[in-house]
Amino acid sequence: MIVKDGHIHTPYCPHGSGDSLTLYVEKAIEAGLKEITFTEHAPLPQGFHDPVPEQDSGMNPADLENYLRDVEKVKHQYKKDLRIHTGLEVDYIEGFEKETRDFLNQYGPHLDDSILSVHFLKASGQYICLDYSPEAFKALIDLTGSADAVHSLYYDTVIRSVHADLGSYKPARIGHITLSRKFQRLYPALSSHETEIKKLLEVIKARDLELDYNGAGTVKPYCQETYPSPAIASAAHQMGIRLVYGSDAHTASGMMQGSDQLIALKP
Ligand SMILES: [Zn+2]
Ligand SMILES: [Zn+2]
Repeated sequence: MIVKDGHIHTPYCPHGSGDSLTLYVEKAIEAGLKEITFTEHAPLPQGFHDPVPEQDSGMNPADLENYLRDVEKVKHQYKKDLRIHTGLEVDYIEGFEKETRDFLNQYGPHLDDSILSVHFLKASGQYICLDYSPEAFKALIDLTGSADAVHSLYYDTVIRSVHADLGSYKPARIGHITLSRKFQRLYPALSSHETEIKKLLEVIKARDLELDYNGAGTVKPYCQETYPSPAIASAAHQMGIRLVYGSDAHTASGMMQGSDQLIALKP
């Protein structure tokens, strides 16, 4: 029984939909959820050039105050029916730790529950958004040598994100830790990367961080599994890591996606 969706996007997402906050909230109540967190993509760090063609990976910095205000508004409006948290999905970008820490020091006091995610990988000196498109993933394969090298680079970067000093407002949950599998049916890996994943889970556990148990991969045609997969989710759960379901919905109709494929988590 899922009681919380800890990963929801909003109309403030430049690559999302215009669905209103109240539409997401109504859907959450309808689905029987008790708690949700809005985790819009934080503005990308100052000085970082968004490599995707539309340059729409993060929220417009000019919208941030309005976003925080609007979430506070629905939080109060629906407080009898649903516990709503204010969050952001903050990018960890190698080389932009200081900018990210400065941002979190400024806005962290307004945040209840946030996610730290890796979408951008640095390969041969250039940043590529790993999950943007099959072509972007292919570009990473060309730069690193193989699909397996892309996975290794991804896990390595997520491990860095766990270790990174992002200050006292660093998000307590790590986003979709197997996002590098988004195009796995198109560009299969030879290795399961078990050792790297085990190491990643160990550092997450050691820092007492939570895992985003993300349903979005289940509806991606080349992925068709949750992030992380059932086997990894089960290993994490056995280690005592808390997993928090996240629909990663960018439309109200995307809420609860993948929730039927979660393994049973005993409290
Ligand atoms: Zn998004
Ligand atoms: Zn994400």
